[in-house]
Amino acid sequence: MPAARRSPAASYGMHLHKGRILLLRWVISRQYLPMSSWMPTRLHGRYHEMAPNVVPMDYTKDPDVKLPMQLIINMPELKENPFKERIVESFSEDGEGSLSFNDFVDMFSVLSEMAPRELKAIYAFKIYDFNTDNFICKADLEKTLNKLTREELTAEEITLVCEKVIEEADMDGDGKLGFADFENMISKAPDFLRKLVCKSSWKFQLI
Ligand code: CA
Repeated sequence: MPAARRSPAASYGMHLHKGRILLLRWVISRQYLPMSSWMPTRLHGRYHEMAPNVVPMDYTKDPDVKLPMQLIINMPELKENPFKERIVESFSEDGEGSLSFNDFVDMFSVLSEMAPRELKAIYAFKIYDFNTDNFICKADLEKTLNKLTREELTAEEITLVCEKVIEEADMDGDGKLGFADFENMISKAPDFLRKLVCKSSWKFQLI
C-alpha cells in the first residue's frame, strides 16, 4: 500500500516539530552537559562497558559505532520500563533502534530530571506515537494503556478510557491528538498524567 501523502500543513507542522527538537537538543547540550561535565565521560563508560570489543575508548575521530537495541534495553534504567523498546527507537537516529553514542547521550539528557518539560513532552509524544504518523490516535492510546495497566483492564474498559481521553484532549475535533493537543493535555493535568505514566520502579521518567 503506498504511503499516505502528507498535506502541506502537516509537512509544515512536521518541519516545525523537527526544528524544535533540534533547537532543544542544542539548548540542552549547551545548558546541561557543561554543567555536569562528568556526564559524557561517565556515559561513555556505560556505553563502552556494554560492548568493550566494539566501542573504542577514543572518540576524538568520531567513530561510526552503534549498539543494538537488545543491549540498551537491558540497562537497569530501562529494563523494567514497559516502553523500553519505544524509548530506544525514539532516540535512534537510524530509526531501527540502534544507538550511536550521541543518540545515547541524547536519551540520558532528555530522560534526566534536569531536562525541560517541553523537551520531555516532545519525546513522550514520539514514544506514545507507536505508528509514527505524528498523531496519537485511539490505537496508539490503546497500546499505551495496555502497557501501563499490564492488561488489568478489559478491552471494553480500555476502549472507553481512550475515547474519553481523546474526547477531552482533541481540540480540533479530528479524532486524534496532535502534539498541541498532547502538550495541552499534559499542562492541564500534570498530576493525573504523572500518575499514569510514571512508575516509581522505572528509573527513567517520561514526563
Ligand atoms: Ca500515531
